[in-house]
Amino acid sequence: MSPYGRKKSPRIVITGAGIGGLTTALSLHAAGLDDVLVVEACPSLRAVGAGINLQPAAVRELTELGLAEALDGVAVATARLEYHHRYGGLIWSEPRGRAAGYNWPQYSVHRAHLQDILLSAVRNRLGPEALVTGGRLVRYEQGREPGGEPGRHTVRAHVAGRPSPFSCDLLIGADGINSAVRATMYPDEGPPLGNGISMWRGVTEGPPFLDGRTMVIVGCNARVKAVAYPVSRPDGSGRCLLNWVVESRTDDGLGEEDARGGADWDRAVPPEEVLAHLEGWSSDFLDLHGIIAGAPRIGRYPMIDRDPLPSWTDGRVVLLGDAAHPLYPTGSNGASQAIVDARVLAYELAHHDVDEALSRYEAARLPQTTGLLAAHRRLEPDPVLRQVEALAPNGFLDIRQVLPEERLDGIKSCTRQVTGVDATALNARSSWSVAV
Ligand SMILES: Cc1cc2nc3c(=O)[nH]c(=O)nc-3n(C[C@H](O)[C@H](O)[C@H](O)COP(=O)(O)OP(=O)(O)OC[C@H]3O[C@@H](n4cnc5c(N)ncnc54)[C@H](O)[C@@H]3O)c2cc1C
Repeated sequence: MSPYGRKKSPRIVITGAGIGGLTTALSLHAAGLDDVLVVEACPSLRAVGAGINLQPAAVRELTELGLAEALDGVAVATARLEYHHRYGGLIWSEPRGRAAGYNWPQYSVHRAHLQDILLSAVRNRLGPEALVTGGRLVRYEQGREPGGEPGRHTVRAHVAGRPSPFSCDLLIGADGINSAVRATMYPDEGPPLGNGISMWRGVTEGPPFLDGRTMVIVGCNARVKAVAYPVSRPDGSGRCLLNWVVESRTDDGLGEEDARGGADWDRAVPPEEVLAHLEGWSSDFLDLHGIIAGAPRIGRYPMIDRDPLPSWTDGRVVLLGDAAHPLYPTGSNGASQAIVDARVLAYELAHHDVDEALSRYEAARLPQTTGLLAAHRRLEPDPVLRQVEALAPNGFLDIRQVLPEERLDGIKSCTRQVTGVDATALNARSSWSVAV
């Protein structure tokens, strides 16, 4: 009997019960691979984080995992993305999700609500013993197990404070941007890279704005921008949860410091610290100042990522989600890419031996996410807001008098590169579900 009450070693250990790790467990189970153990560092999975977006490519995968109804119950199907000047003028508006021709919606959702859905599905489908909390992986090693089955390649995942490691056939590192699995694979890599931009985030209860399904990006120039969108539908009193983020280039070294310590999603700051960046901003559809002042808690985080890796695989150890390819949140795509990774990996493992599956997974996902990483970096500072500020620093009555349609179209296509897949390709692609 193992120290965790399991009769034998799980064949697959996943480190991290974030969105990537939990979706991987569900995807493996759906593909008929259910000898899985998820090992999570946090002693209890608290409801932390703010709003995230799920792109249609990820919603398709969650739908095929049977989670569409649960998701639709807590999320908002985002129908539009709008860019506005800091004095309110509309720069552009475009449809999103189903309105943009995808067969699946784009969802805005509170990260904690999404994690709850995934967590209860893992507990119901794989059993409560499939998740161990309070288990921080510190390193792994692999090879033949002394005295083990002849010829069997084993990975040993060492967890802080536990006398014996977990032995498994495959270790999946889904342990986020400060992944210990990645650090074992690439011991010389060092901390994440900050770009000098700080982000203040919060979730405030309030009335919805515009049609209640629009994500807005409001901007000033290369230094300051705000993003806001509802992450729940209005309740009986007409109020919903509004997620907001203010980004500002501070270059005060705080980002670097936080990057070294890991992005702490729980560090609180007073609203005045954020409001100081929005002096003089006004808009007739969104009371940004009021929303920020009314937030029960505001967190400040550095904008960080990591350089792409040459490989995500080391023998029978593989990286996934933020551990493999952390992205700036600008493209609202980190959680979606982790979900797609999970489904591709499970699909390949169900169809091929482990080595072949890992190599196919990496060939499918590494170049794609490397391209996305570069596209995300190109979006900072935001090219739309930068150009509008240069041409109309004091605002405008009609954007077409400031920026000709063709130029706007050029910038739009650069912005779209961060969401990755176009509607026609996604709608036509065959499913990654496995018949079991
Ligand atoms: C607490 C938290 C809050 C977040 N809030 C937001 C948000 O509000 N908005 C947003 O856009 N993005 C947020 N993110 C990031 C976003 O969820 C991820 O970019 C995305 O979902 C990719 O998910 P992931 O599973 O790869 O990584 P993550 O979501 O980072 O999950 C990694 C998991 O691994 C665990 N872990 C870390 N180290 C170890 C270890 N050594 N051993 C075992 N387990 C370990 C972590 O506790 C975490 O549960 C948040 C991430 C976290 C961890």
